Amino acid sequence: MGERVFDGHSDLLCDVARRRLAGERQVLETHHLDTLRRGGVEGLVLALWASAPGETFWRGTLWADPADFRGRTEQLLRHGRAELAESKHFRPVRTVAEAEAARSAGQIYAFLAAEGMAAAGEDPDGVDWYYEQGVRLGMLTWNETNALAAGAGGDPSAGLTAAGRRAVRRMGELGMVIDVSHLNERGFWDVTDLADGPVIASHSNCRALCDVPRNLSDDQLRRLRDTGGVAGLNAFHGFVHADRARQTAWTLALHAAHMAEVMGAEHVACGFDFCFFMGSGNEGAAGLEDAAGVPAFLRCLERLGMSERERAGIARDNLLRVLRQRLG
Ligand SMILES: [Zn+2]
Repeated sequence: MGERVFDGHSDLLCDVARRRLAGERQVLETHHLDTLRRGGVEGLVLALWASAPGETFWRGTLWADPADFRGRTEQLLRHGRAELAESKHFRPVRTVAEAEAARSAGQIYAFLAAEGMAAAGEDPDGVDWYYEQGVRLGMLTWNETNALAAGAGGDPSAGLTAAGRRAVRRMGELGMVIDVSHLNERGFWDVTDLADGPVIASHSNCRALCDVPRNLSDDQLRRLRDTGGVAGLNAFHGFVHADRARQTAWTLALHAAHMAEVMGAEHVACGFDFCFFMGSGNEGAAGLEDAAGVPAFLRCLERLGMSERERAGIARDNLLRVLRQRLG
């Protein structure tokens, strides 16, 4: 039997919402369950990504007003909840104890994450609203600039706003996991200075191998390690290598090896960010187009000399450790 895998960043709720808006039901079971099972995926972090451009992936759907982040987030939540309620194969969870119960019942556990918390805006209760919806992991921004911070595509000189600082403190009080994957670099340092617990970058690779703003420098990797957090390996081709020919599962394994060297293997996790259902331009690295490629990817780690324990940590255990510490 292969490794059991916990994918720390999945955009499947986008496919769920889009197809349910078009009248489909049981989207996960019909289109995704078999692939997840073949990949050994036992759990997912499902992202609420409310910043998606309306004219692309969402064309022809009833996707809400692009400026209405709260409305979009509610729409994703509504469809995601309905989908999970209909499925005996998936279970929404808020703690690792609940995840373990789901696993014992043979179900795929699903945590909820906010990929961009623009809906919190400057509302002092905005973070509480996410928490009440069951969201347990949160990124202040996607790539955009919002009332909290600037994303990787935003103003490089902007750090966290006063509202962003309040949000980080409130997430700490509530016991949410803070995820810096989409922040610009100043925001990254602001968050890791403020946060009093482990900070994760759920789906970011190494700049040493692929120098793009969504990836992390060695100094940033060491900082995540010092908080007790993890960085999650991202299969999106453009974050794996600049050269098309090297956008492969093997090169992503080299990112894992680099992270392990810089931080220690116990701070490496998976956040594959599979977006094959979003159409052209969103492909995963060759061999990691979807979850079915994960077992072969993990064999690359073995070929690089990683022990069984290190591989199990990267595949699942390291992220579960951080979540257990934060969520129980
Ligand atoms: Zn993302």
